[in-house]
Amino acid sequence: MAEVDWARLKAHELRTLANEGAVVILPIASIEQHGPHLPVMTDTRLGQEVAHRAARKAYSTRPVVVTPVVWSGLSEHHMPFGGTLILSHDTFRRVVRDLVHSITRHGFRDILISNSHGGNIVAMQQILDELTPTTEATLVATTYVSEAGEDLSQHLEDQPGVMHAGEAETSMMMVCEPGLVDDSNLAELASPEGRTRFLQAGAGSYRWRPFAHVTANGVFGNPARANASKGEKLLEAAADALARLICDPETWASPDDMRSDSVGGVPFRT
Ligand SMILES: [Zn+2]
Repeated sequence: MAEVDWARLKAHELRTLANEGAVVILPIASIEQHGPHLPVMTDTRLGQEVAHRAARKAYSTRPVVVTPVVWSGLSEHHMPFGGTLILSHDTFRRVVRDLVHSITRHGFRDILISNSHGGNIVAMQQILDELTPTTEATLVATTYVSEAGEDLSQHLEDQPGVMHAGEAETSMMMVCEPGLVDDSNLAELASPEGRTRFLQAGAGSYRWRPFAHVTANGVFGNPARANASKGEKLLEAAADALARLICDPETWASPDDMRSDSVGGVPFRT
């Protein structure tokens, strides 16, 4: 099996991968509290695992290489529970921008920014909006929780989706880091139900809220139903979804230009 970890490859091997048109996965995540039973690296560890599995699955169609995870992200809302290391929006944007520029300068032209933390989603899309018109690479942003969607939900008994430190993430960490999951009291950790729309005001408006607004212990969801066999199914479903995304030529297709010659205007890229 080919090596997919950027950090374990040698420079000349990465030059070859660029020449072969490899896809680069740049995972972005966080170090943040995940309740009393999971380590703060949960999003980083799961993002790495899903990216590496997806890369190995896609490799026979296209070579794929995974950079180290950008381990700090936008987690101000988790700060009150401790253990959380955050970047400002401005710094986060600059870190991702500089890494994308580095990858692009080496000749890679298809870059998948693969996110595993909800707080990064809006910023990630803004970063793409800002970078795409000025980079030679095609940039695609994904969050495995969204891309895999129903493929994840079908395995969950108590939650509609992945949520935070609940049934899904606890199950997946039981596979990835079994020695770091404290399963001594999972039945007591479930968050109160019915507050899933806590970031909404009115019918369709937004307001910021800290995580302490919806949970007493940092958990959002129910880890009591977690187990390793469920975690393995979730990890595989997430990796399958990302591999499909990577292998679909439409993912990397250039935008259509439906302007007639008489319209004029400017190119998409500067
Ligand atoms: Zn998480």
